[in-house]
Amino acid sequence: MKKIILTGDRPTGRLHVGHYVGSLKRRVELQNSGEYDKVNIMIADAQALTDNADNPEKVRQNIIEVALDYMSCGLDPNKSTIFIQSQISELCELSFYYMNLVTVARLQRNPTVKTEIKMRNFEASIPVGFFTYPISQASDITAFDATTVPAGEDQMPMIEQTREIVRRFNSIYGEALVEPDILLPSNQACLRLPGTDGKAKMSKSLGNCIYLSDDSDTLRKKIMSMYTDPDHLKVSDPGKIEGNTVFTYLDAFSKPEQFERYLPEYAGLDELKAHYQKGGLGDVKVKKFLFSVLEEELEPIRAKRKELEKDIPYIYEVLKKGSDDARQTAAQTLSRVKNAMKINYFDDAELIRAQSEKYKAE
Ligand code: ATP
Ligand code: MG
Repeated sequence: MKKIILTGDRPTGRLHVGHYVGSLKRRVELQNSGEYDKVNIMIADAQALTDNADNPEKVRQNIIEVALDYMSCGLDPNKSTIFIQSQISELCELSFYYMNLVTVARLQRNPTVKTEIKMRNFEASIPVGFFTYPISQASDITAFDATTVPAGEDQMPMIEQTREIVRRFNSIYGEALVEPDILLPSNQACLRLPGTDGKAKMSKSLGNCIYLSDDSDTLRKKIMSMYTDPDHLKVSDPGKIEGNTVFTYLDAFSKPEQFERYLPEYAGLDELKAHYQKGGLGDVKVKKFLFSVLEEELEPIRAKRKELEKDIPYIYEVLKKGSDDARQTAAQTLSRVKNAMKINYFDDAELIRAQSEKYKAE
């Protein structure tokens, strides 16, 4: 079986380091590994509109931001198909049929949707489109026959929902759809990177992000005001590592050789943690180290972005070409789905033949 990737992001803002460690960095590695037959990267504008219906300009303006972030990180249009969801109308058609395979109760149980409804204060007025976005996500994934979805932990219930739809579809209509697997980050700290405020998830909607495009000064300021251990008041106090965002970020980003470069007095992260727990290590020193670590990772991305920003029409060309390509693939899947569902009346010579026989016989 072919190995195919589908993954993407909502154009509701620039991409942040949570996206980077949760999915983006992995995508670039997989793209360059040559192990995949196809890599599809989707800018999910239609999904973004499900909770931004009254703010289309936000979605429209952020398409280019996401595309620039993608290509700054190394997603390469010669190796990956980068496209815009709304341009692939076949995806809506698939959703319309998949909706028959999912119950309202099942959608209500989806833990990610539950959390997001709370976060957006939607309790009493959930837009139907938002409520059903897990179904639309199943269409995105299956339209490309994706086997692999590199994503953060928050996407697990979505992929599970997709797998259920695939199994139900295939059992009713015959094997037409591919069941995907989620590919989670291997580093525990990257499954769900917390925000700079210590909240459970760095998220555009929560305003607790370090953006890939933040300049050096902004990065320094954000790190210096980051949440650590609220009880670690004096340098000599023993400090907590658990729930201490600065250490979680070091788990996510630091490399052993960076200790030699910036903190040669420590053999590695374990030793730094032990010192902090014992007392005698101040937050500022750890934060300065984190700044150096992140600066190393983000500086090349920033520089690449500056280059790409010089030719915006080219980025739109890339997106148009990607969308044309994606549309062809999705159309093939839709046709397969309609054949399986027997809504292919005009292509089914056998249907017409059998019915004419029947009426002749009467
Ligand atoms: P929004 O608030 O608009 O939902 P978001 O910041 O949650 O935005 P999405 O576009 O919903 O971002 O997520 C895109 C991808 O990035 C998904 O694969 C998701 O799992 C991953 N991701 C987002 N935030 C994090 C995070 N904090 N840690 C790890 N992965 C993340
Ligand atoms: Mg999200």
